[in-house]
Amino acid sequence: MMHPKEEKTVIIIKPDGVKRGLVGEIVSRIEKRGLKIIALEMFQPSKKQIDDHYPKDEKWIKRLGSKTLKNYEEYGIDSKDKKEFGTADPTEIGKAVRSWLLDYMTSGPMVKMVVSGIHAVNMVRKIVGSTMPGQAEMGTIRGDFSVDDATAANRDKRSIHNIIHASESPEEAEHEINFWFAPEEIHDYKRAEEDIMF
Ligand code: GDP
Ligand code: MG
Repeated sequence: MMHPKEEKTVIIIKPDGVKRGLVGEIVSRIEKRGLKIIALEMFQPSKKQIDDHYPKDEKWIKRLGSKTLKNYEEYGIDSKDKKEFGTADPTEIGKAVRSWLLDYMTSGPMVKMVVSGIHAVNMVRKIVGSTMPGQAEMGTIRGDFSVDDATAANRDKRSIHNIIHASESPEEAEHEINFWFAPEEIHDYKRAEEDIMF
């Protein structure tokens, strides 16, 4: 069985993160925590690639729509309002959000990384913060560098600009590693502090 130190996850710095010059800041936060960058590249994907990167199943799409509905409930916004979606069906809302996501993720170059370390998936999600930057904790990447949320993004018919993507589970990470990286692009080395920290 794989040693816990070898758990891997994928990070993608989204077009707004790259254009805002946050690449160094993000890399630094990952490295300082003791997580190891084992692959890194700037790239410009096609819409088809982004479509295949994100899950397509109804359950995931419905969950995406539910995030909007939860955000609307918190701020007293009616999703059935014509200015909004005109529906309260999370699947319909999820489909619209997913299509905006494809536009956002192809709007400029991004930086992709594979990161390894103890509980890498959960550690990176903690460093990244919750999906809606307006609700993300201070000290997280999304909480420190953005205030965007679904109420504003949906009104403008665009994806929430939240700087960074990170795999949500080891299964998602495995799919994303195989999808974005060839085996020879993933490197194996020892960081100087490994003997001291772990
Ligand atoms: P993540 O894992 O935290 O990135 O969130 P998800 O996997 O649920 O969603 C993927 C991406 O879709 C997010 O990072 C946002 O950029 C965008 N997104 C998620 N929910 C919404 C929403 O309710 N409205 C809009 N406009 N965009 C959303
Ligand atoms: Mg996700």
